[in-house]
Amino acid sequence: MNYDVIIVGGGPAGSTLAGMIGDKANVLLLDKANFPRDKTCGDAVGGKTLATLKELNLLKKMEKIKHKKIRGITFSSPNGVVSSIKLKKNLVGIDYSYVCKRAVFDDLLFKNASKKCEAIQGFTATDLVWEDGSVVGVKGTLKGKEKTFKGKIIVGADGAQSMVAQKLKVNTNPPEHVCIALRAYYKNVKGLTDDIEIHFVDEVIPGYFWIFPEANGEANVGIGVVLSEVQKRNADLKQVMFKVLKENKLFKDRFKNAVLASEVKGWTLPFASYRRKIVGDSWILLGDAASLVDPFSGEGMGNGSFSARVAAPVILKALKKKDFSVLKDYEENLWNELGPEADMSYKMQKLGRWRFLLNFVVGKINKNEWVRDSISGMLADTEAKKDFASPFFYLKLLFS
Ligand SMILES: Cc1cc2nc3c(=O)[nH]c(=O)nc-3n(C[C@H](O)[C@H](O)[C@H](O)COP(=O)(O)OP(=O)(O)OC[C@H]3O[C@@H](n4cnc5c(N)ncnc54)[C@H](O)[C@@H]3O)c2cc1C
Repeated sequence: MNYDVIIVGGGPAGSTLAGMIGDKANVLLLDKANFPRDKTCGDAVGGKTLATLKELNLLKKMEKIKHKKIRGITFSSPNGVVSSIKLKKNLVGIDYSYVCKRAVFDDLLFKNASKKCEAIQGFTATDLVWEDGSVVGVKGTLKGKEKTFKGKIIVGADGAQSMVAQKLKVNTNPPEHVCIALRAYYKNVKGLTDDIEIHFVDEVIPGYFWIFPEANGEANVGIGVVLSEVQKRNADLKQVMFKVLKENKLFKDRFKNAVLASEVKGWTLPFASYRRKIVGDSWILLGDAASLVDPFSGEGMGNGSFSARVAAPVILKALKKKDFSVLKDYEENLWNELGPEADMSYKMQKLGRWRFLLNFVVGKINKNEWVRDSISGMLADTEAKKDFASPFFYLKLLFS
């Protein structure tokens, strides 16, 4: 059978695309895992991901799956000052968000997608099939047997270590545009609230340490540092994280009786500050495979699922017109939408290297309502986020 579209990877990016076009074209969705499956992640569902749920009509179902509602963000600065802000109304008009284990969240998206198209789990894609210099299919193994599927458009949504991107030779980023992050679940962490916690501790900047509360009372704990910094410091991130938990005055008491409830797992986050080639004559890359993680927040489900929302109409148009040169519109449309925000986040990530600036901003959050208001507005609104990199914002802070 020759499919219109073959999607490799049923994470937030691939399942969103399948959910959007699965009933409008002949689509095959392939994933090596059997859902529900874990994915190493902080499990925080941001505003752009909520907008995807709205688009897929899944917001009500989101309410029904196991999640923790998040009402605010707590920050701490390298000098140990702690501040909190409340979330403002986000892209879907609600003033809260969620932390949800990926085994649960991705299952919601994958199940929705598999109602709309043919979906095969347990299929590990191992290679692309080429004809006359173009990609025309995917090879792989299913229950130990080799299988090949052919399609008009092949979509790589197979994550940060994408096989599809590797075979297309578009899978590498310079080390300053990739982050290495670790995640572990802990039980019995003291002082969890309805806030996600982002801590700029000396051992981790320019990067951050997080504590996100889960629905079952556990905490998702992790750190993320840009690869070039990890290389420069020759750092063992696992030991850095254990040291922060044991010795930092903000956490040592909170983690005194905490128990590690999972392995400490690491994975890479390819940043949207580096623009890879993400489209060809018969292929498209989405999500982490296209290097779309926000370089400041590390949020990748939002941009990943957003890339699927941008790709969906382009793919349908190409199929309708039987003209695959249309696919290049995906790249242009995506960067028109994401480019300015990605550039801004990259600038903010660079500002995050400055200890004094972090101390200054976090300290101001505590003291001043205007600052709290501005920052929660910037987090909810991409346009307003531009202010973070504006000298005028810091000038206003100075006098506020
Ligand atoms: C430690 C850590 C913390 C993070 N925290 C957050 C957070 O709190 N919030 C947030 O939004 N983002 C976070 N991210 C980023 C986020 O996890 C990713 O950006 C997001 O999962 C990307 O979605 P995706 O669909 O592109 O890829 P993935 O979610 O990786 O999905 C890829 C899918 O492809 C399948 N696959 C892979 N290879 C093959 C193959 N060869 N054949 C068939 N199938 C294949 C996999 O099984 C998987 O289901 C974090 C990342 C890390 C590492």
